[in-house]
Amino acid sequence: MDCLFCKIIAGEIPSKKIYEDDSVYAFYDINPQAPVHFLVIPKAHIGSAGEITAGNSAVVAHIFEVIAKLASELGLANGFRIITNCGEDGAQTVKHLHFHVLGGKKLIEKMA
Ligand code: AMP
Ligand code: ZN
Repeated sequence: MDCLFCKIIAGEIPSKKIYEDDSVYAFYDINPQAPVHFLVIPKAHIGSAGEITAGNSAVVAHIFEVIAKLASELGLANGFRIITNCGEDGAQTVKHLHFHVLGGKKLIEKMA
């Protein structure tokens, strides 16, 4: 499959890995929009948040556990923001489900 994030998981494209386990991969965003900006993705290809079903949603709960652990380890005790862009109107550019984690400063309140 011609998917950038599947290639990153497979090691075919380099990334600044933060964390990996059997089902989840986390790495720094190549174009950070906050002092700390990383992405957490399922290893299994899910196209977007619009493709989460009863059959594949367990990994989403696990991703949120991983986010809490990494946010703590990376010094985001004062808070952070989780974003998942979905589809054309959501301005999703990479069609593999990913959760942005942003922090390290007081973020703007505006979300859209
Ligand atoms: P989205 O617009 O939500 O689909 O976000 C895609 C994100 O992937 C953007 O924030 C990009 O900066 C990031 N990105 C694209 N290519 C890479 C890459 N090779 N390594 C790390 N992050 C990437
Ligand atoms: Zn993929």
